[in-house]
Amino acid sequence: MKIKQRKLWDLSRDGLTQGFIGDWLDCRMQAHLKFREGLGLRGLTPALSFGLMVHGILERVFHGGFVAQHILHYSEEVIEEIRKESPNLSPAEEEDLEVAAGMAEIVTSAYFHFYDFSKRNWIGLEKEFKIPISFHDGLEVPIRGKIDGIYALNDKLWLFETKTKGRIHDPVYLDLLTFELQVMLYGWAVWKLYGKRPVGVSYNLIQRPQLRRGKRETIPQFLQRVKEDVTDRLGFYFIQREVVWTDEDWAHFQGDFTQTLLEIRGWADRAIRSTRNSRTCVQAWGTCSYLPICSREDCGGFTRRSVPFPELGGVENGDH
Ligand code: SF4
Repeated sequence: MKIKQRKLWDLSRDGLTQGFIGDWLDCRMQAHLKFREGLGLRGLTPALSFGLMVHGILERVFHGGFVAQHILHYSEEVIEEIRKESPNLSPAEEEDLEVAAGMAEIVTSAYFHFYDFSKRNWIGLEKEFKIPISFHDGLEVPIRGKIDGIYALNDKLWLFETKTKGRIHDPVYLDLLTFELQVMLYGWAVWKLYGKRPVGVSYNLIQRPQLRRGKRETIPQFLQRVKEDVTDRLGFYFIQREVVWTDEDWAHFQGDFTQTLLEIRGWADRAIRSTRNSRTCVQAWGTCSYLPICSREDCGGFTRRSVPFPELGGVENGDH
């Protein structure tokens, strides 16, 4: 008897996240390779290691009620998690991970020293959501994600969002924050969950250190230099921006969101092809990791994941 293989991603079972929608809008082929085929780059880059470290530490500090004294312990936990998800790291990747962990400890310690978030009136932290939406034919699709934070101020709801980037001072990047898909989708989720439209979002932007390790510099020497730079320039490494959403912003979002969902439904039903969009292969923030596959069918550097959204829990991935 032929055993029927379980699809990695199914629209009604697994649903959609902001990451999925963003990838799909960029390039259908990218969404196909990532979510239908489950392909992802093997190994780690220094920027990815740093991002994973910071994200993992912040998540734990938020969960733990903003007690920043445990950052070193959290850092060890995150390293172990990364090693489990990316086994067989090369010696160079292990060294990059060690450097990334050290930098993440420095940056997150300074971040919680610079800001005191404990006084805010938190309604939710690291809030995972799964909100069903229905298509005209009755098909239900969960919209899913995890919100960094939601807090109340003067009886109004605000979204709290932390971002770690290599260029937080770029005016183009700051302009993009005003109508970012991820955050407006999270605002929509807050509206559905709490029955109240959030006023806007408070962005907390963290600059990724851009210092390079010298050829003769040891890791402790380099980390000491990073620490001095972060301590000397706290206002450069951390900035806050508030974006208030207007009625027009919401009208735009609702229209775009509805249209996008209809198109993704057509793609999920195979009525829309997984077209390649060569204009998005190389962007300001880097080259699409799937270029070796699209250009010469080279899958050598890739591995397959077993769930469509590893950042959300197993049950949340439709493991039932
Ligand atoms: S390399 Fe280009 S065409 Fe291929 S998935 Fe990436 S963005 Fe799409």
